[in-house]
Amino acid sequence: MQLDQYVNTLGRDLKARFGGKIRKLTIDANFTCPNRDGTIGRGGCTFCNVDSFVAAQQQHLSITEQLVMRKQELKHRNIRYLAYFQAYSNTYAETSYLKRMYQQALASEDVVGICVGTRPDCVSDDVIEMLADYQRQGKEVWLELGLQSAHDQTLKRINRGHDFRCYQQTTERARQHNLKVCCHLIVGLPGENQGDYRQTLSQVIATGVDGLKLHPLHVVEGSAMARTWRSGRLQALTLPEYVEAAVDLIQRTPEHIVYHRVSAKARSDSLLAPEWCGDKWSAIVEITRRLALSGAQGSKQI
Ligand code: SF4
Repeated sequence: MQLDQYVNTLGRDLKARFGGKIRKLTIDANFTCPNRDGTIGRGGCTFCNVDSFVAAQQQHLSITEQLVMRKQELKHRNIRYLAYFQAYSNTYAETSYLKRMYQQALASEDVVGICVGTRPDCVSDDVIEMLADYQRQGKEVWLELGLQSAHDQTLKRINRGHDFRCYQQTTERARQHNLKVCCHLIVGLPGENQGDYRQTLSQVIATGVDGLKLHPLHVVEGSAMARTWRSGRLQALTLPEYVEAAVDLIQRTPEHIVYHRVSAKARSDSLLAPEWCGDKWSAIVEITRRLALSGAQGSKQI
């Protein structure tokens, strides 16, 4: 039983279009974030500690060196790659610097494209134009926008520093240039329930979206939420709760939308809760089993 039998995964989508396996390589280009440096806010989103996503040995290496290192770690032969600019806000710099970073990644012959993760309030017209240009040159390009929830009340509570309207406007600008947008959503944010997750999904789909990333709320060391969790005022989702929520959302997602991720793991040295997020496979195996039993992506109405 494979997840891509029931879900239009990025792996399945890329294989169909490129005729072979494409792997994502995570890049850290030393960006920062306007929600941390005081431009928009300080302290960042309450769930965030970017160190939990970036391998320490990757920091301070050039893009080219990181790509070489990550390829060696994977030990795969004859496959191609997408360079994934993941840590912090990867459009938060002068256009000339961004261009240098992206082009270093695209210069490698076996890199077919880039995925650029960022905040919706951090994407200028120049950046959209630059990414759209790479796409016109035949590169695979994804703009990954962190949204987490479409509820402004929740966005305020988790100190995102932008609202849903901001996400909509950036998505609309990007898609007008035929850029593909992947929206990041978190299941289990404080104060939200299944009705809220469904409403978020419905509003994201109504705005127009090409890809989705779902992941359970991770409570990680160094984040503001770690304090709330330690004080007992925050409950992390159990594995069955997350699986039930994720399966419901996947089944309500139209088939043409590509899932980049249906769960995620955090580094075990910084993860506080839920414990099962130290291993990404437990959720994927269970989600696959449930989709096989009760219906695949798109089998339910949004
Ligand atoms: S989650 Fe992203 S936007 Fe929020 S503080 Fe962390 S790096 Fe910044």
